[in-house]
Amino acid sequence: MNFDAIVLGAGMVGTSAALQLTERGRRVALIDRRGIGEETSYGNAGIVERECLLPMAIPRDPWRLLRYALNLAPEANYHPTHLPRIAPFLWRLFEATGRSGLEAHARAIDTLGRFAIPEHRRLAQAAEVSDVFRETGWLRLYRTKRGLAGDALLHDLADRFGIEHRRLEPEEARALEPDLKAGFHAGVFWPETQTVVWPERVTKAYGRWFVERGGTFLTGDARSLRREDGLWVVGTDAGEAAAPTVVVALGPWSVDLVSRFGLDLPVVAERGYHRHYGSERGARLTRPIVDVEAGYCLNPMERGLRLTTGIEFAGRDAPATPRQLAQVEPMVRQIFPLGAPVEAEPWVGSRPATPDGLPVIGPAPGVPDLWLDFGHGYLGFTLGPISGRLVAEAIVGEPTLVDLTPFRAERFGRRR
Ligand SMILES: Cc1cc2nc3c(=O)[nH]c(=O)nc-3n(C[C@H](O)[C@H](O)[C@H](O)COP(=O)(O)OP(=O)(O)OC[C@H]3O[C@@H](n4cnc5c(N)ncnc54)[C@H](O)[C@@H]3O)c2cc1C
Repeated sequence: MNFDAIVLGAGMVGTSAALQLTERGRRVALIDRRGIGEETSYGNAGIVERECLLPMAIPRDPWRLLRYALNLAPEANYHPTHLPRIAPFLWRLFEATGRSGLEAHARAIDTLGRFAIPEHRRLAQAAEVSDVFRETGWLRLYRTKRGLAGDALLHDLADRFGIEHRRLEPEEARALEPDLKAGFHAGVFWPETQTVVWPERVTKAYGRWFVERGGTFLTGDARSLRREDGLWVVGTDAGEAAAPTVVVALGPWSVDLVSRFGLDLPVVAERGYHRHYGSERGARLTRPIVDVEAGYCLNPMERGLRLTTGIEFAGRDAPATPRQLAQVEPMVRQIFPLGAPVEAEPWVGSRPATPDGLPVIGPAPGVPDLWLDFGHGYLGFTLGPISGRLVAEAIVGEPTLVDLTPFRAERFGRRR
C-alpha cells in the first residue's frame, strides 16, 4: 500500500497531524498498535488551556524544594530507584526553568497557545464533536496567600499576553461553584480556557473525520519502521504501508523509535493518574477546578468527577503506584464533597515531557523525510491540533502559521 505520508501514533497529536495532511490533499496512513486516542490522549484532564504559559519547573523556594526532595509533595512524586536515570533530565529542567528560561518558554509556547483553541474548535466542528466542548473556563484555587503569590509570574505573563483572568474572593468563587467548601484563600478564574466532557470522544471523532476525508487507519507496530528504496515502510495487519514521508507522533514512546535513527532526545515520562468519583448529596461542579498547592485537577466528566494527579517520575512501564491519588483524596474532600470512586482501579499514563517544556515539532536532524511531533508534556491534548497543522504545513511546503525554530529538535544538540 502506497501513501504520500505515514503518521505513527494515533493519539491527539498524531491523529491531528494525519487529518491536517489529509486536508492538504495528501494520501495518509495513520498507524497505531491500538485504537485511536486510547493511551495518554484518553486519560488526561480534558483541559484545552489558554493560559498554558509556564512549564513544570524545579522550585527555587527552599521549602518547596525540600518537600520535593523528601517525596512529600503530592504534585510531584518520584520512584527513588528511577532517580539515577532521570538525574540528567532533572538537571536540564533546573537549568531551563530559571526566571529567564520561564519567560522564554512563555514567549514560545504562547505562539502555539494563542491558536490552540481556535484550531481545536475548527476540527471539532468539522468532525461534528463540538457538543463535547464546554466554554465554562476553569477555576484555579489557592489554599494560602503564599500559594497565590507563587503564581504571580503566571498572572503577570497572562497580563502581558492579554489572557483574561480574574482574581476571586472565596465567596465569588462559590458563586460560580456553589458546592465548593470554604477551605481556600482565593481563586483565579480563567474564562478563555475550554474543557471537554470526554477526551477520547474528541480524538476518535477527529480520527473518524480523517477516514471520511479519505485517510486510512491501520493497525501496526511502529517499531517495524525501516527505510527501503527511498521509502519508509511499516508492517501493518493489512500488509506493508510505504510512503516517502513519515511523522513520528508516538507520544511517550517516540524516543524509543527515533533513538534507532541516531536521535538522542531528552523526552521522559511524567506519569499521572486519574480516577472517577461520585459526589455526596448530589454536589456538582460545572467546570474543572485546580487545587494549585495540592496539585490535582477535578473535572466533571461523563463517568463522574475525573480526579487527575500531578507528576510521578517513574519508569514509563513500571507498575502503577497511585500514591498521589491517596495523598490528594482527603485534600479534595476539604474543598469539595467528593463521593466514592466509580472504578476499582485508577488509570495511569505518561506525559511525554521535555526539559524546556516545549514540544518537538519539525524535521528530524540528519534523517531525511522523518518528521517529529511529540513531547507535548502536560499540554498535548490542547496543542495536538495546532502542532498537527504546523507539521502538515511544513511537510507540504506551505509557510507555517508559527515559526517552528523554538520547537526544532536541534535545540537539544547534535545527533549521536
Ligand atoms: C494525568 C494527565 C493529565 C493530563 N491533562 C491534560 C490536559 O488537561 N490538557 C492537555 O492538553 N494535556 C493533558 N495531558 C497531556 C496529554 O494527555 C498528552 O500530552 C497527550 O495526550 C499526548 O498525546 P500524544 O498523541 O503525543 O500521545 P498518546 O496519546 O500517548 O498517543 C501515542 C500513540 O502511540 C501509540 N503507540 C505507542 N507505541 C506504538 C508502537 N510501537 N506502534 C504503534 N503505535 C504505538 C499509542 O498506542 C498511542 O495511541 C495530561 C496527561 C496526563 C498523564
